[in-house]
Amino acid sequence: MKNFYITTPIYYANDKPHLGHSYTTIAADVIARYYRLKGMNVFFLTGTDEHGSKIAEAANKNDVTCQNWVDGIIGDFKSLWKRLNISYNDFIRTTEERHIKKVREVFGKLLRQGDIYKGKYSGWYCVACESYFTDTQIAEGKCPDCSKNVERLEEESYFFKLSKYQDTLLKHYEKNPDFMQPSWRASEMVNFVKSGLKDLSVSRKNVKWGIPVPGDETHTVYVWFDALLNYISAAEDKDIWPCDIHLVGKEIFKFHTVIWPAMLLALDIPLPKTVFAHGWWTVNGEKMSKSKGNFVNPHKFIDKYGCDAYRYFVLRQIPFGDDGDFSEKSFLERYNSDLANNLGNLISRTFSMVEKYSLQNVAPSANSEFPIGKLLNNFDEKFTKSMENIELTASLELIWEIIDEANRTIDSEKPWVLFKTDKEKLKLVFENLLSAVEIISKAISSFMPETSEKIKKIIADKKVSEPLFPRIND
Ligand SMILES: [Zn+2]
Repeated sequence: MKNFYITTPIYYANDKPHLGHSYTTIAADVIARYYRLKGMNVFFLTGTDEHGSKIAEAANKNDVTCQNWVDGIIGDFKSLWKRLNISYNDFIRTTEERHIKKVREVFGKLLRQGDIYKGKYSGWYCVACESYFTDTQIAEGKCPDCSKNVERLEEESYFFKLSKYQDTLLKHYEKNPDFMQPSWRASEMVNFVKSGLKDLSVSRKNVKWGIPVPGDETHTVYVWFDALLNYISAAEDKDIWPCDIHLVGKEIFKFHTVIWPAMLLALDIPLPKTVFAHGWWTVNGEKMSKSKGNFVNPHKFIDKYGCDAYRYFVLRQIPFGDDGDFSEKSFLERYNSDLANNLGNLISRTFSMVEKYSLQNVAPSANSEFPIGKLLNNFDEKFTKSMENIELTASLELIWEIIDEANRTIDSEKPWVLFKTDKEKLKLVFENLLSAVEIISKAISSFMPETSEKIKKIIADKKVSEPLFPRIND
């Protein structure tokens, strides 16, 4: 059986999960389900990044130990994934022994072979980001990433020889155009690497909540160096590396396309096939932020609209890869138009007529004499191509083309007239409609697993009992 390995980033366990976390995870779940249905041996990994000073800060504020804090937060992640039907195969936590062991092993190996060395760091340090910056990177004493104040710091640190891998990385990008996706995001990374890579500080003396550096326990391993290794510590003994897709948000694309592959090159481990970065959500036109307190809580929408409506909305609303906006208004509009009116109506109209006109014995079949039949015959090839190019929004659009055309077929062919005038044609029309419903139920199963099961039951029962998506008026 062919292997397929897909990951989400491990999420930083300093706060409860929100829209952003759910977005990446739903997308990864859709892809994982798609390849499982194709018969592949899928390993879908998610998890939590549990070290660093921001975790210690959150634990301090809540007056619990760091370990108690992260133990609590991961419950929030796991229960959200359960409600969203996330079919992960493994959930890795960076505080687990299997991970700590791997990080120490890798650090020790790179130290012995000279890819990590001890030096002195002096630069501008941002406590919130746990990162150093150079004079040119800081604007007016502020961190370029989070705009908080930075402080001048000089300390002993271990460095990873990132600079050594500059040319190898550039060659890899050139030879593997699929490595960075969407491809329009690649040039920024290529230019960054071409501008010259500096060695990376990979240890911290001032961060206590972390993995101790082997042989020098006054240092802890830099959180990013620690976190990235989850992809191999979880895959240990599974014979599933290299990873097929690392799905990430655009803000961490650089870590996954520059630092991570350089670490793997140093370890002589093959590089992942693709790193795909999706865009960012704004909420009602504004950036999501702690200060604005406008993080979208997925539970609120799952409660009101259901899990599948949430899964559908986030992947349909903005082309996968781009930025876009989340608002309850657009959610409600899409729910009523795409789900209640188009999909829900098609299923209920089709099967109420199957009952009314006693068409239970009609077998699904696409007939190219009808526009819907033509669409159905070409669907599989187009859908496969689109899914395998990670064009998730476009894949949903292809399914909705069928739904719209099937509804149009009912409107134009008027089965209620055909029932009186032309029973042969009525049967032909329903062969196509039933074929459409069957194809829809299969194609949406990766995106909306519960709805797919409900439609499959309707197909088997040959009747509808209750609407799939009751209209919601606000
Ligand atoms: Zn910062």
